[in-house]
Amino acid sequence: MKKHNFNAGPSILPDVVLQNAAKAIIDFNGSGLSLLSISHRTKDFEDVLNEAQTLFRELLHIPDNYKIFFVSGGASTQFFHIPANFLKTKAGYVNTGVWSKKAIKEAKHYGEVQVVASSEDKNFTYIPKGFAIPADLDYLYICSNNTIYGSEYKVDIDSPVPLIADMSSDIMSRPVDVSKYAMIYGGAQKNLAPAGVTFVIIRDDMLEKVVRELPSMMNVNTHVANNSMFNTPPVFPIYVMNETLRWLKAQGGVEEIYRRNLEKAELLYNEIDRNSLFRGTVEKEDRSLMNICFVMSEGNEELAPEFMEFAKERGMVGIKGHRLVGGFRASCYNACPKESVEALVACMQEFEKMKANQ
Ligand code: PMP
Repeated sequence: MKKHNFNAGPSILPDVVLQNAAKAIIDFNGSGLSLLSISHRTKDFEDVLNEAQTLFRELLHIPDNYKIFFVSGGASTQFFHIPANFLKTKAGYVNTGVWSKKAIKEAKHYGEVQVVASSEDKNFTYIPKGFAIPADLDYLYICSNNTIYGSEYKVDIDSPVPLIADMSSDIMSRPVDVSKYAMIYGGAQKNLAPAGVTFVIIRDDMLEKVVRELPSMMNVNTHVANNSMFNTPPVFPIYVMNETLRWLKAQGGVEEIYRRNLEKAELLYNEIDRNSLFRGTVEKEDRSLMNICFVMSEGNEELAPEFMEFAKERGMVGIKGHRLVGGFRASCYNACPKESVEALVACMQEFEKMKANQ
């Protein structure tokens, strides 16, 4: 049976990327050696790293006054690296769910944190808007797509202070006006690569704003100055990321993938809204294109385990919602084909019919 992969992360990667990665593990570039067994200082690997940076810049239209580097440690390491580098007195954070809360917790080790807006009052079912951004903040921090709650910023907000965004779960899924951000970063294990590599896009002026003496690995300048090679970079995830970026370019780039993502999300949200057995959990205008959360509608809550089983029997994988939201979450990342979303929609329709006839 065909499996439809809706895992939230690590998650679906394009078939061709997996095939190329499998080949490279056995024989990298016809060298007779595995990608896993060569030095990161070889020209062949440096070419991969440089190409990944070039493609990142090209696909997201990153201006020349930004640097891109790749490190390990996951997005969670950036939760404390960011304040370590840039929080001198007070930083602003928008609390839109688990991942911003974790970032807030870590920032408190370094200075004052002002939560300038929060959607916690309604269990993170919306994105706060129109909030004031104090001019005395060292930076403002947002999480652009909330993987667990399924909410997403639809605009690149204007900020009078440097804007830093965690784009772990929506990077390369939609066009971004990079020039509005001082820094964009994320774990690559959703839209780009297996777990193990974190991307950082940082504006040049930020490199001069590091506020304290730091161990080398924590200082952003170390990674920029050494072009992601200060220590051994995560070679395999970077290789896979480069293959995914090549694939994305061949698909028509971020603009085309965004069109497809809109189409997929519309298909599924339309069904969630139409089907009497389900309801969405997030305000319509803030619904994520990547992580589509829904629950059984009122009065039908007890059907959840049955639908889960029903969907599983039809090849749906990874649609169990996070325990904090319950219900279901279909993560429709870039590599998730429209056919998988259509299969899930068909499954929801079939379930509704079956229940109506019982
Ligand atoms: N931010 C977001 C939005 C995430 O979805 C995740 C992981 N799911 C993280 C941060 C944490 O990433 P990592 O596991 O790479 O530390």
